[in-house]
Amino acid sequence: MTTTIDYDQFYIDGAWQAPAANGSIPVHSASTEERVGSVPEGTERDIDLAVAAARRAFDDPDGWSRWSPARRAEVLERFAAALEARGAETARRVSVQNGMPIWLANQFEAGFPPLLLRYYSGLVAQTGLEEIRPGMLGGRSLVIREPVGVVGAVVPWNVPQAISFLKIAPALASGSTVVIKPAPETVLDAFLVGEAALEAGLPAGVLNIVPGGREVGAHLVSHPGVDKVSFTGSTAAGRAIAETCGRLLRPVTLELGGKSAAIVLDDADLAANIQSFFASTLLNNGQICWLGTRVLAPRRRYQEVVDTITGLVSSLAVGDPLDPATQLGPLVSSRQRERVESYIAKGESEGARLTTGGRRPKDLDKGWYVEPTVFADVDNKQTIAQEEIFGPVLAVIPYSTEEEAVAIANDSDYGLGGSVWTADPERGTALARKVQSGTIGINAYVNDPTAPFGGIKASGIGRELGPEGLHAFQVLKTIYLDASSG
Ligand code: NAD
Repeated sequence: MTTTIDYDQFYIDGAWQAPAANGSIPVHSASTEERVGSVPEGTERDIDLAVAAARRAFDDPDGWSRWSPARRAEVLERFAAALEARGAETARRVSVQNGMPIWLANQFEAGFPPLLLRYYSGLVAQTGLEEIRPGMLGGRSLVIREPVGVVGAVVPWNVPQAISFLKIAPALASGSTVVIKPAPETVLDAFLVGEAALEAGLPAGVLNIVPGGREVGAHLVSHPGVDKVSFTGSTAAGRAIAETCGRLLRPVTLELGGKSAAIVLDDADLAANIQSFFASTLLNNGQICWLGTRVLAPRRRYQEVVDTITGLVSSLAVGDPLDPATQLGPLVSSRQRERVESYIAKGESEGARLTTGGRRPKDLDKGWYVEPTVFADVDNKQTIAQEEIFGPVLAVIPYSTEEEAVAIANDSDYGLGGSVWTADPERGTALARKVQSGTIGINAYVNDPTAPFGGIKASGIGRELGPEGLHAFQVLKTIYLDASSG
């Protein structure tokens, strides 16, 4: 970015509105460290205004929540088209802010939001919101899926747009209204969403966007005007939010951290699947929750697997995320780089063997880069095998039998993603069934929008994507129709 992008208003209640206070969030490029823009810093007062707007929009007896799915779908189609028109700029802003390689930002950040809006408005239109069930006691029941109400959504910086629309798309399609708080590291992209919503003619208050830090997020989560919370972020923040929602008896979906296993079986041809293996373990510079950052390799092929992975990782094109040839960009912030470096130091001090990387790239003197890194001879009890690093660091752990591989995969606080690499997909599927995880792939890991995504254990509660991702923004009401007459 040559010129900076500076905003001085928020998208609240269907219009650009002046912030309640005059704080500002500076935004920096992950690759040049330069300031590239700023947005106003939201305060509790801004959240109050946004929630009040969302509440009015939801409670309006002729408003969004009472519209037919088809009528909402028309507006959401215009919203999708307006986002598409801004897709290239959305991808560019995300890439600059968090270091996501531009080809990936085009797929995830430009591609997913319109796709999800269309998928969920289509799903509501196809499946309907009401069902009549013949009963067992002589009557019938009318079962209605009502919109949950005002949604408070809090999202992280790693895949900001796709994650935002995992919440916004099903919530709006359900008839709910939304207040979303983006993470301070990635806010410039969120303002394009406000522009698109305005252009599409989203009714006032249906979507409101207030960037800010964790206190502002905590205020949104506990706000009396909010009916449902949807959070993606760290397990630590998820626990705090779960406590608040528990106290308030407020429904909550939590998509949290992970430390997934990529299990290489003894018949796997890893070299033939190397691009897919890269995407499943190191995508977005290691900054994705579901990545298989613990690679489990059979002892009898251990050195060969370590060599293949080391060869892949040491040959990755590391550099400017805006260059289409770049496979691995910088980390989001200097703080995140320090965190990743401290884990690399921990891996070395705990006795793991560094086979490549581990330092800052010599040829890049600006930007929050870390060399993609592989540790071999890792014991699953070591810190780098147990804690989420959220950077380009793989730990290769040896195993002797399939049973041991499953035991190691399951010896984790987390249970979000994972993959099995094998020449025999049936064998892979049988093994995948034994892994304690919300999702797992065979010879690839691709989050398909039609299937539920989410974690177990410390990786979270609830599911996004698929019909289940819509159900998270609906409440069931039963009207017993005509049972009593007998
Ligand atoms: P984070 O938890 O620090 O912050 C995430 C968001 O929550 C930010 O908007 C932040 O301002 C806000 N926040 C933080 N504490 C809060 C609180 N107590 N109350 C309300 N809001 C609060 O996480 P991060 O460092 O920004 O993101 C990285 C983490 O997100 C990783 O652990 C990663 O695994 C996780 N993640 C999970 C998924 C998933 O779907 N499971 C997807 C992406 C990222």
